[in-house]
Amino acid sequence: MFLVSACLAGFNTRYDGTNSKDRRIVKLVLSGKAIPVCPEQLGGLPTPRSPVQFINNDVALASGQKNRAVGRDGIDYTMALLKGAKETLRIARIFHIKAAIFKDGSPSCGVTYVWISGKKSHGKGITSALLEQNGIEVKTIDSI
Ligand code: SF4
Repeated sequence: MFLVSACLAGFNTRYDGTNSKDRRIVKLVLSGKAIPVCPEQLGGLPTPRSPVQFINNDVALASGQKNRAVGRDGIDYTMALLKGAKETLRIARIFHIKAAIFKDGSPSCGVTYVWISGKKSHGKGITSALLEQNGIEVKTIDSI
């Protein structure tokens, strides 16, 4: 069983109310092999919402502890993203998830890159980092 980014499964969970549907992920969900989650919605954020990016380039980026995730509206969403990450981990534990397939680039689901102060930068989203820290493999949709 996989966890997958809900937007990849066709849910309109993206910040702008759209999705990033990928037929392979839809197939996994339909066959009962994947559970869709949107960490940002699980963190209590609305959809649509302000796009969020990190504002610090720090080695502790992946932990989300030393970096602030700030919306285009200037609001600090770090705590909401952390809450969503913890809730996603809780779901992963309930279903004994060993691996996740996530949408890259997101401050929550990013796997190989995120956006830091407007620049595409190597790093992980807060949820991906937390899952990996807890022994769950996280792959980007771009790698499968
Ligand atoms: S937080 Fe993850 S699942 Fe939710 S819209 Fe962003 S990339 Fe998709």
